[in-house]
Amino acid sequence: MSNLDPAPAEAISRPDPATAPVRELLIGRDVVLGGPRGMTVTRTLPHKHRRMVGAWCFVDHYGPESATMRVPPHPHTGLQTVSWLLRGEVLHRDSLGSEQLIRPGQLNLMTAGAGISHSEESPPDLTRILHGVQLWVALPDGDRATAPAFAHHDDLPVVHRDGLSATVVMGTLEGVTSPARMHTPIVGAEVRIGGSGTLALRPDFEYAVLAFEDGPVVDGEPVPAGALSYLGAGRTELALHGTGRVFLLGGEPFEEQIVMWWNFVGRTHDDIVAARTDWEAHTGFGTVEGFDGPPLHAPELPTTALKARGRTR
Ligand code: MN
Repeated sequence: MSNLDPAPAEAISRPDPATAPVRELLIGRDVVLGGPRGMTVTRTLPHKHRRMVGAWCFVDHYGPESATMRVPPHPHTGLQTVSWLLRGEVLHRDSLGSEQLIRPGQLNLMTAGAGISHSEESPPDLTRILHGVQLWVALPDGDRATAPAFAHHDDLPVVHRDGLSATVVMGTLEGVTSPARMHTPIVGAEVRIGGSGTLALRPDFEYAVLAFEDGPVVDGEPVPAGALSYLGAGRTELALHGTGRVFLLGGEPFEEQIVMWWNFVGRTHDDIVAARTDWEAHTGFGTVEGFDGPPLHAPELPTTALKARGRTR
């Protein structure tokens, strides 16, 4: 029996989001970070059937709320972490010796490569409103064992258009380019909407828009705070209406399959086992100086082998 498809016409006409526009509203799930006193974040990537947008593979939105961030030293491999705040301050320390306070409008960009460890916490005496997003970018296979690096950018370029302004965090938007280092063609920008405006897009990129607050209308659809509107590819411009701030994510559809587990991005189950073993043995990830407390332990691996997955599943 082969003809069991209940809706063959729909299946035939469905656009391929790697080449054509679509619109999927992805509602995140709540996740508690870093133990019992941890903050609650809303995770929209990876989503069940939509795992990546370009090389962007992880989106955690948090706040605005009165909260204290305290994420003890933990490792990363095979990715870049992109830390972006709308309110509050976060102190980053890493195994390269970096110690950097990040404020709204600034980028902390950590390239894990072969291995790095870091902590993130609210600075002392600064328990205030926190609002931000933690994003990860998967490194391509040829760069995923690169030397770890950390950069802080407080001079990001801003694009002004009728009805909106955009801070270019990664890549190029409207001909304006961020100084941040990237390893695949991607774009990331905070866009402040105050009326109606359009942004020029690349048809070979797929895009998504994260709403930081209620109010933005993306391609005609209201996007609630913390949700991600996935837009597919094949667009030359994006219409934004309403009010509020959003984060635009985009990139060339990422063709490699990856294994994401805990704080690691690899290509195989064995990559993840090796990274976890190294972390628990205190090798390969250096030491974070200055954090008042012990590092995080890795969770137990699942009993079945981790599978590599593509951008949609
Ligand atoms: Mn981290």
